Formats: sequence, C-alpha cells, structure tokens
Amino acid sequence: MGNRVADLHSLTKFQEILKCSVCFDFMQSPIYQCHNGHTLCSSCKARVLNKCPGCRQQLGNIRCLALEKMAKSLELHCKYEEFGCPEIIPYHTKLMHEDSCNFRPYSCPWYGCPCSAVGDIPLLVSHLTDYHKAVMFNSCNFKHGFLIGDLYKNPGRRWIVIIINCFDKHFCLHAEAFLIGSTPVYMAFLSLIGNHAEAGNYSYSLQIGGNGRKLTFEGVPQSIRESERRSLESADSLIVPGGMVHSLGGETREPKLEITSRIWKTQCG
Ligand SMILES: [Zn+2]
Ligand SMILES: [Zn+2]
Ligand SMILES: [Zn+2]
Ligand SMILES: [Zn+2]
Repeated sequence: MGNRVADLHSLTKFQEILKCSVCFDFMQSPIYQCHNGHTLCSSCKARVLNKCPGCRQQLGNIRCLALEKMAKSLELHCKYEEFGCPEIIPYHTKLMHEDSCNFRPYSCPWYGCPCSAVGDIPLLVSHLTDYHKAVMFNSCNFKHGFLIGDLYKNPGRRWIVIIINCFDKHFCLHAEAFLIGSTPVYMAFLSLIGNHAEAGNYSYSLQIGGNGRKLTFEGVPQSIRESERRSLESADSLIVPGGMVHSLGGETREPKLEITSRIWKTQCG
C-alpha cells in the first residue's frame, strides 16, 4: 500500500492543484472548470454567478473529470502523521478522518479567556501549569476546598480547572458555579487529556460536601476533545442544585464546598 502514496514533492504539487482557486479548500467531486481550464469547487461555483473568478468568462457546467479521477486515486498520509498517526487515507475521506483522528493535537481546555494553544499531551500539560498556573495534584485521591462565594465576587471567573496526575495520565477536574436566575448551581466533572477510547478505561467519583452532608457522583471521564464542545451546563457531571449549595456549604454568603475525587482503572489499557 505504501508505494501507492505519492512522494512528498509530487504530492505537495498535486495538493496545490487540488485546492480551489476561490476558497483554497481541497476540492471534492464534482470539480468544475471554465472554458480556459480554471478550476473551482462546486460550492464556490454556486457563489460566483456563473463567472470564472480567474478570467471573468462564462463558467457553464463543465466538469473536470481528469482532476476528479486523479483525486479519487490519490491516497495521502494523515496530516497528523508527525504526531504519530500511521493512517494512509483516500483523498475524499481525508478531512473526515482528520476531524476524528486520535492523533489530532488537543486544544487547551482552559475556559474563560480566549486561548488558542493546541498540542500533544506533554505540551498541553506544561501549557496549563506554566501559562495558566493550573494547580496539579499527583494522586488518584485528592481533596480540594472550594469557596463558591469567591467565584461570585469575581464574575470574570466562576470556574476552576485542576490537573490530576495519576496512572501516568493527566485528568482535568472542571468545576463551575453559575446562576440560574438568582439561584447558584454548582457543577463538576472530570475529563482525560487523551482520546475517548482511553478515557473509557477509567472511572471516577466526585464527592461534594461540607456541613456534615455530602453528594456523590460516579462516572466515566470524558475526553477533553468532548469537553471542547460541550456546554458547561450539560449533563454527565455532578450537579449541586440551588438550595443544596447552602445545605452542603453552609448558610453563609460564601458557602465552602469540599471536593473529594477518586480515580480508578476499570480496564487494562
Ligand atoms: Zn471553493
Ligand atoms: Zn477561467
Ligand atoms: Zn490520522
Ligand atoms: Zn490555554
């Protein structure tokens, strides 16, 4: 299979040819061309009002079958090859594969401020601790006191991310306090800095309590890829609703909740 992959030089040239001259995305069938041979993708064709953006001539409906066929026969390395992906993928499924590729670098899970950091796991862990000053616990069991009142005094930041280093993996504890109406709601969940399959090898429990009471949640960590897209209020997390914040944290303006977390392995992996 390997020798069917074009060598790097001709590949780079070929990839350039396959880029739409209007949107610069890789063209997928049907690929169109004008009478003078300028090519463009079908979604751009629909937008240019039948005028070739290259030579301003009428476009018509001329397919560029030669290019479509070349694209069809092409197999490419995943763009995350340098991160370890061994896959060789047909041209037309490349984008789909790369979107769900297990070797795709991770985005920074820090909320609240725009952060565009992406990278592999070691890079992201040092980014979180060095740049965001995230606290790191080196134990599968940990306890953390958390003042909800503090969060309300600082409206810019009602959440924390804590890194937990255990089983040679890095987990993120995400906790957030928010208001529904005037009622405080408290939410916490755990995610793995790793892919979805790895995350399924672990379980965790979170306990939130104080004041002689506690609430326990047991779950399977998500991958931080999933928490990239999730809304913080979605389910699959420990949620302490309204008045319970005060029964657990004390009838004060600054209820103090204690988070206890434990992570364990459920599968060998
Ligand atoms: Zn285009
Ligand atoms: Zn043209
Ligand atoms: Zn890949
Ligand atoms: Zn960041």
